[in-house]
Amino acid sequence: ALIQGVTARNIDLHCRDSFPPCMRRMFSKLRETHHLKHTGRMQLGLFLKGAGLSLEDSMQVWREELTRVVGDKFDKEYAYNIRHNYGLEGKRVNYSPYSCAKLIPTLPGTGEYHGCPFRYMERDELLEFLKSAQCGLSDAQAHNVLEPLFRKGEPKHYHVACRAFWHALHGADPTTDEPIVHPNQFFELSYRARHD
Ligand code: SF4
Repeated sequence: ALIQGVTARNIDLHCRDSFPPCMRRMFSKLRETHHLKHTGRMQLGLFLKGAGLSLEDSMQVWREELTRVVGDKFDKEYAYNIRHNYGLEGKRVNYSPYSCAKLIPTLPGTGEYHGCPFRYMERDELLEFLKSAQCGLSDAQAHNVLEPLFRKGEPKHYHVACRAFWHALHGADPTTDEPIVHPNQFFELSYRARHD
């Protein structure tokens, strides 16, 4: 279902209240550095579309940041990609936001911030990230989120960690037992919990 109410004006509040860690990281870096490399722009751009951000507002958000770094190139190159994400250019496909299964294997290179932080960050870096202004968790909450990732002899349980992050944000569990397998599912559950 399409989420109403995410706009260029209130997006920072939605990020603070309801974005999953992966999208917090990309959106914060966009605000901080006024740029994101291609894969990050795709992953964040499609997530924002799924979260209900209109094409017009999407243009506004990206233009505001990117023109500070790429200047005129925004209108010549980057605007095309945004319209493309919304199915208005090229093959006119209405592209779907990426699921966790698609995000987790994409590893960021130097100067990139896409993918799943639970996958690509080391323990100490994750702890710092979770307690930073980008996520705002307490030390105890951050350790709680990390626990499913660093169990001895077990693979990393990404969706369990993400659910623990959701719990830390809301002080409660989501209303469903379904595992969190999509950043937009994380967002929608949060949005509903806040607005119902
Ligand atoms: Fe994002 Fe999914 Fe990783 Fe959570 S588990 S941070 S929603 S990619």
